Amino acid sequence: MKKCIIPFLLVLVVLGIACSKNESDKSINLFGIDRDKQLGAQVDSSILASPAEYPILSEANYPAAYSYIRNMTNKILNSGEVFYRDEFVWEVKIIQDDDVLNAFCTPGGYIYVYTGLIKYLNAESDLAGVMGHEIAHADRRHSTDILTKEYGISFLLSILFGNDQSTLKDITGSLISLSYSRKNESEADEYSVRYLCPTDYKADGAAEFFARIVEEGGSSGPTFLSTHPDPGNRVENIRAEKVNLACEGDKGYDAEYAAFKNSLP
Ligand SMILES: [Zn+2]
Repeated sequence: MKKCIIPFLLVLVVLGIACSKNESDKSINLFGIDRDKQLGAQVDSSILASPAEYPILSEANYPAAYSYIRNMTNKILNSGEVFYRDEFVWEVKIIQDDDVLNAFCTPGGYIYVYTGLIKYLNAESDLAGVMGHEIAHADRRHSTDILTKEYGISFLLSILFGNDQSTLKDITGSLISLSYSRKNESEADEYSVRYLCPTDYKADGAAEFFARIVEEGGSSGPTFLSTHPDPGNRVENIRAEKVNLACEGDKGYDAEYAAFKNSLP
């Protein structure tokens, strides 16, 4: 039986190359999009199995908070600009930890947002901007690109077909603190504006976050944003992209956002 496995994996790799090329995706990603979804599902179950590390806010106890964040996410997803809108799962979960200023998205679209980030921001459009940025990392498939670079394709495939929980935990951990390339970060910023542009949100919502980081004089922002490029340049670039695309949305929904924050524990 074992002899069959390697050719089988090779076939998958080849299929992956064939499946992952599309018009707007010029990089060659060795993972097929079904593999993105599978890896995301595995990481998601690993997160759910570690409540001490990732305390997920209970949806049963906080239904209004979940419905708020889902409505917000759906506005972005339904902008017509998200390439894998129907292929990826796009599930949102809130992690209850006020000390963490972070959000992340697995391959295949499992999105996690920390209460620390939600409480740091002041408008729905600010959070929508950050969510757009995270959605872009999955939709542009940066996450599988970089995991493939870090771990290698055969290693990732072995996780999908094996049951190696400790390796899965490593990958989960590194996904959360992934250092995307400068190019990936700039692209995620740009796509955040593109996704928000057809909505009624201020399309440069993501800039508010960086503006505040700059204002507070910190390069000590969360890893997902603080690495590079320079936060000040990102503010300028995001705002310039909004002008460039002539986005007309001007809503921040500040009052609704304040109520949402108050609904959290
Ligand atoms: Zn990022």
